[in-house]
Amino acid sequence: MRLLFVLIAAAAWGQTLSVQQGEVIRLRGPAGAVQARMNDQTVPLFAQEDGSLLGLMPVPATTPPGNYSLEMLGADGAVLQTRDVVVRDARFPKQNIILGKAVAELKPSPGEMESIATFRKNLSKERYWDEPLVAPVSGCISSPFGVQRLYNGKPSGSYHTGVDQRSPAGHPVRAAAGGVVKMARMWNVHGGTVGIDHGQGLQTIYLHLSKFAVKEGAVVKKGDVIGYVGSTGRSTAPHLHWGLYAHGVPVDPRQWVALKPCPPRAPAPKKK
Ligand SMILES: [Zn+2]
Repeated sequence: MRLLFVLIAAAAWGQTLSVQQGEVIRLRGPAGAVQARMNDQTVPLFAQEDGSLLGLMPVPATTPPGNYSLEMLGADGAVLQTRDVVVRDARFPKQNIILGKAVAELKPSPGEMESIATFRKNLSKERYWDEPLVAPVSGCISSPFGVQRLYNGKPSGSYHTGVDQRSPAGHPVRAAAGGVVKMARMWNVHGGTVGIDHGQGLQTIYLHLSKFAVKEGAVVKKGDVIGYVGSTGRSTAPHLHWGLYAHGVPVDPRQWVALKPCPPRAPAPKKK
């Protein structure tokens, strides 16, 4: 009786995909599928070396929790397969960041925002990445993905699109996966920025670097040093901010790399 119940539960579980806001659904397509669609977002499927079809469907952090349907589409647009998806509430916290006047008033460099938007749009069809990804630095997470940000008490209207890892200035930063360096630039707001295209929809970006160890166009392997931790751009202390994108949508790196949260800081000792 109990075994039967477990079997039914397992069968029901297999029917519905369960993901959290900010996660990626790794899709395996049925034969003939070329795209997958969910919630008006369409992503391509790519043929893998073993003959399977792989796609990455990002679930944006802003997706309302609830039930969705995921469709596998053929070349003619016909729906070949449908799966039910439950998007769970990630319960992203809120965080207030105190910025000094000079940092708060920083304006983007000419072309800064446009270049980053272009980077997120241009994706290589060749796959350079394999799992597991590696953490770019070893430090704990001081600010997780998805946090709703307030700057000096005012809602910034945006959320934290990557993770912050504690790391001393000058510490080497490593590529989370193999790929092509598409950006290695010093920007006003993002600071020293490296953007890597890992292919087939996956990209990473590394911010506030003090120095670069790669040039645009370089092909890197997983774990290669790409730059050094700094506090350039809109940053209040040396740390590494890095972000993961699936088809240009920011997603939570912790689904891909094991990262430990920092222990809560002890209250500052009272001055006498
Ligand atoms: Zn950050």
